[in-house]
Amino acid sequence: CPFDAIEETHSAINQVIEKLADPKTTVVGIIAPAVRVAIGEEFGMKPGSLVTGEMYGAMHKGGFRVFDCNFSADLTIMEEGSELIHRVHASAKGEAFEGKLPQFTSCCPAWVRMVENQYPALIPHLSTAKSPQQMSGTVAKTYGTEIYDTDANDIFTVSVMPCTAKKMEASREEFNDAWEWNIENGKSSGASYQDVDVVLTTKELAQLFKLLQIDLSQVAPAKGDSLFADYSGAATIFGNTGGVMEAALRTAHKVLTDEELATLEYTPVRGLEGVKEASVTLFDKHLNQEITLNVAVVHDMAKNIAPIVNEVLAGTSKYHFIEVMNCPGGCVNGAGQPVRGEGTSWMNRA
Ligand code: SF4
Repeated sequence: CPFDAIEETHSAINQVIEKLADPKTTVVGIIAPAVRVAIGEEFGMKPGSLVTGEMYGAMHKGGFRVFDCNFSADLTIMEEGSELIHRVHASAKGEAFEGKLPQFTSCCPAWVRMVENQYPALIPHLSTAKSPQQMSGTVAKTYGTEIYDTDANDIFTVSVMPCTAKKMEASREEFNDAWEWNIENGKSSGASYQDVDVVLTTKELAQLFKLLQIDLSQVAPAKGDSLFADYSGAATIFGNTGGVMEAALRTAHKVLTDEELATLEYTPVRGLEGVKEASVTLFDKHLNQEITLNVAVVHDMAKNIAPIVNEVLAGTSKYHFIEVMNCPGGCVNGAGQPVRGEGTSWMNRA
């Protein structure tokens, strides 16, 4: 392979095997929502089978502690929803605030990298919330020291994602516990450990199970082994396009009105492929007035993002919150998922 991708895959899997064999190390497997509907097919199971319990069982058999990334998807939703409320309130009161409207989601590293490279003026629009992967790593190596009764340096976090871009995200210097940006010289202050040590794709986890002689189709379903495997229904829709938006909006609605949001009705944006929008009008008890939140969801980013971004840059966007996902249909169709047969797509059945 000219880009050493095969070499890197072997090295990541070997590193995990080494850590699993080390009795001093607690190896924490962080499982993303989109992985559990795809990995079963690698073991001859029906395409689209939901194998959460079997994955927990297989991870335990391999020596992992289980950290369900849905737990931290809930944390991301709370952070992004609260941040949106803060930005909307500051804007309504005419107060100065750090972030700008519309707020863009920040959980897709391919989108974040596109903003940094091509649209740096949009950086203040990005949510400051870490992605669920990065929140998982942080929580596992901080609060996790109590749960696992060990030192952060003896915890090795292995994130399993549908996504190859998540490898780049995990290696960013901001996601090191000792990272501290030095405004004077623009350099980081040093390093101790990364929040996420290794990222495996869905396909790579299947390879690892096979090397460990674990047949997922024969493993009895198991339950999570700590609070880190608990999550709400909102977190489970994170892997689909529109899932992050809907979950964050539901949180914001509940905080602002004390009531649940009714079904969110999206409509396709006329003339734009891969973009849909919705509006929610609610009585904001904190502002004591009715407000309308306009939101948009974009997927298949390279093809569809330009008109949305151009409106924001021109100051003519009507939206308050915009979700952007690089892959068509969202993370369920990420580049780390098993390759599907012609004419099929994860998004059709997720
Ligand atoms: Fe990764 Fe694609 Fe999901 Fe973005 S949309 S996080 S690139 S799988």
